[in-house]
Amino acid sequence: MDNYSAATAGAKEHSVLGEQKNRELSLEDWLQKWKVHEIGFHKEDGHKLLRKYMNTFLNGRNGLRVFFPLCGKAVEMKWFADLGHSVVGVEISELAIREFFTEQNLSYSEEPIAGISGGKVFKSSSGNITLYCCNIFDLPRAHVGKFDRIWDRGSLVAINPSDRERYAKLMLSLLEKSFHYLLAIISYDTTKHSGPPFYVSDSEVKSLFGSRSNIQFLEKVDALEERFKERGFEYFFEILYLFTEK
Ligand code: SAH
Repeated sequence: MDNYSAATAGAKEHSVLGEQKNRELSLEDWLQKWKVHEIGFHKEDGHKLLRKYMNTFLNGRNGLRVFFPLCGKAVEMKWFADLGHSVVGVEISELAIREFFTEQNLSYSEEPIAGISGGKVFKSSSGNITLYCCNIFDLPRAHVGKFDRIWDRGSLVAINPSDRERYAKLMLSLLEKSFHYLLAIISYDTTKHSGPPFYVSDSEVKSLFGSRSNIQFLEKVDALEERFKERGFEYFFEILYLFTEK
């Protein structure tokens, strides 16, 4: 590419990223996606990279508190519960939470969250899966305590770009010492799609989380599924990072 094309390509990318930066989904938009089941992000069999890095993530420890921000009905929550860990998730869609328990054949109870108007907390009868139905930014008011592990997939990349810093600060504030935080993000041509999932650059990951974490790049995998090809994507990568206590 000559200098001129490189410069214009750069400008184009910049303007599209600019558009992504201004894109906002309301909570209502997400509720609507669940209502019409526009949930292409849900992985019925769970996430391959999490399966692959499970031992690295758990690091031989038992009885951990594992947090799933923006959990949807992620089946991986059950994996951790079955291993004896205790799982906490937060999700704005009550429908998603109910589907999770029903599809996993788990009975549950529900009650209002003291301090969050309209919020509800759902608990599996065995007691080791607790899902808060509220805006993630209201979660501190539920006094959820700290977590040993965070699995962040479809979460940082789903948060409105203008809320990223606030989100990262919240995540860091919820971590116990000697935490392990796995972050999955994606990389694709932003001219093909305005998000979510939003594109988050490597340098942004570092500036958001680097103050408190050692950031280790674990793997970049080709995740170009047929449904993305049909939408004109030529590449689609998933990138996995591990953050640990600095
Ligand atoms: N992590 C899940 C879901 C990803 S999609 C998975 O891997 O399958 C993002 C989810 O976040 C949606 O289910 C959406 O309803 C929820 N969500 C979006 N914004 C939210 C917010 N501010 N607070 C809580 N949940 C939110």
